[in-house]
Amino acid sequence: MSAQLISGTALSQQIRTDIASRAAVLTAAGKAPGLAVILVGEDPASQVYVRNKVKACADTGIYSVLEKYPAELSEADLLQHIDRLNRDPAIHGILVQMPLPKHINPNKVIEAISTRKDVDGYSVLSAGELMTGMPGFRPCTPYGCMKLIESTGYDLRGKHAVVIGRSNTVGKPMALLLLQANATVTICHSGTTDLAYHTRQADVVVAAVGRRNTLTADMVKPGAIVIDVGMNRDDDGKLCGDVDFAGISAIASHITPVPGGVGPMTITMLLMNTIEAAERN
Ligand code: NAP
Repeated sequence: MSAQLISGTALSQQIRTDIASRAAVLTAAGKAPGLAVILVGEDPASQVYVRNKVKACADTGIYSVLEKYPAELSEADLLQHIDRLNRDPAIHGILVQMPLPKHINPNKVIEAISTRKDVDGYSVLSAGELMTGMPGFRPCTPYGCMKLIESTGYDLRGKHAVVIGRSNTVGKPMALLLLQANATVTICHSGTTDLAYHTRQADVVVAAVGRRNTLTADMVKPGAIVIDVGMNRDDDGKLCGDVDFAGISAIASHITPVPGGVGPMTITMLLMNTIEAAERN
């Protein structure tokens, strides 16, 4: 078997076309959707991420502001900036790029963002809404993974999904979204004794670990769908995921590439959450 590629780039393009037309309707009504992106410090990867987010806003007609602050910014000052943006009617979504410098408590920052503007979906309220199946902002990366799976036409009902990783931003919300889609879900983590035992039974595997070659071909059931969230560097410094793409492509039914898979979808779902926040407004 040769796996079909699930292109996050192509799916993003389709969804962004819809986002752009919704943004145009809002703008024409004098309610242009707006996203504020805050970057504290000079982390090179974060600088690339925020630049891509701001560019994606421009491409889809979403107004955006990028506020950059030095790494020495105090927690109190950052909270004040968030408070100002919470009260700004032109801003419907606020994103604070993680990680923050060590002296700033990320949980305090996330909880300071108005729940109406929590487009990253990281707040305790958004997590609770996801947990209880209420409408709300879904964290962008797992939300994008669900769209990638949906795009294959695969019905998750009754299927076995294995999520590798249990972070609050990716693994746990991913598992909850799969559960909501009626999959039977297993969550694996660094304490899992026999990872391959679980993944070999999976109809769908989502790898969100941050270590390349975590999932190899011998760990995958023939015909499975494999979603690779990981972002790592190989020995040549090239971007790669958590899964052995070449090996698994020979036996899976569908697989996402890195780059061009989950990455673009994460940004697209941020745009989607921002549009929804503006429409709700
Ligand atoms: P994280 O917070 O570091 O979580 C990693 C998870 O992997 C943890 O739950 C950890 O288990 C688990 N883990 C570590 N080693 C393992 C092993 N040997 N077997 C099974 N599980 C293991 O990372 P994250 O924020 O969730 O991100 C995961 C990856 O996705 C990273 O590469 C990140 O860069 C990438 N990412 C990509 C996007 C995108 O848009 N493409 C977005 C977000 C993240 P414990 O809980 O037991 O420590």
